[in-house]
Amino acid sequence: MNTVLFSHNDCTRHITPRGHPERVERLERLEDVFNQPEFSAIERLDAPLCELDRLTLAHPQSYVDQIQNLEPVHGFAYIDADTSMSKGSWNAARRAVGAIVQATDMVFEGSAKNAFCAVRPPGHHAEKTRGMGFCLFGTVAIGALHAIQKHGLERVAILDFDVHHGNGTSNILWDEKRILFASTHEMPLYPGSGYESERGSFDQIINKPLGTGTGSAEFRAAMNPIIDRMDKFKPELIFISAGFDAHYDDPLASLRLDEEDFYWATGEMKDLARVHCKDRLVSSLEGGYSILGLTTSVKAHLMALME
Ligand SMILES: [Zn+2]
Repeated sequence: MNTVLFSHNDCTRHITPRGHPERVERLERLEDVFNQPEFSAIERLDAPLCELDRLTLAHPQSYVDQIQNLEPVHGFAYIDADTSMSKGSWNAARRAVGAIVQATDMVFEGSAKNAFCAVRPPGHHAEKTRGMGFCLFGTVAIGALHAIQKHGLERVAILDFDVHHGNGTSNILWDEKRILFASTHEMPLYPGSGYESERGSFDQIINKPLGTGTGSAEFRAAMNPIIDRMDKFKPELIFISAGFDAHYDDPLASLRLDEEDFYWATGEMKDLARVHCKDRLVSSLEGGYSILGLTTSVKAHLMALME
């Protein structure tokens, strides 16, 4: 079975203000990677627009309406100082959610082994009632809640190795016993949360803050207890909130990881998925703002998924 790669042109129609790190170019340069011969055999699919009832798995209807109504005809509409919408943002965000929903369905139907969703805007900072940190909807949290609702799962695991704490995913899933959420992130750094003491209502949230300058060995050592917890949890499906801004070249953070670390972490999740999930693994792009770091890391991530 295949690795499926989801993307959509609409995700390049979410425009951010000049100089913003979360920019269209990120997906354009990833498209160059996807066109390399190593990926000629990968199955590519257009991300569908999600149904609106997927958004309300994680967000109240009033918040969904607020975001839909905020989309401007010209210029930018601001949610906070660094989170904005342009014409096209609403559909881009719905494609991001649509991709993870369809990817989840495909790994359950057996029409895909695993999947990567090359989408934007990212999602892991979006809380139930508040978009922030470049994110509008909690894409990966929605994927996990969809898996529970539609496929009747009892245990879903999420690994978030983006350099920023996945505060939105944590907020949405705080009281959700069936989803184990683990985040590694630099601290101190935006958004300022993600202490080890934040453990969710059922001790089902794991935070591993990493100090400034953390490199490969320390990152892998911090990952090991997460891998052990996931192994004991025996998930039926694993998601990755795949941000690549812990790369040493990233301008927004100061960790010292490289593409080999993302290859390794992806391989560890694949091993768990093989043992517990019949290989089912779905990954969705979060951050990553150095074009060098993003392109080399996504390439390594995809290679690991395809092996
Ligand atoms: Zn990030």
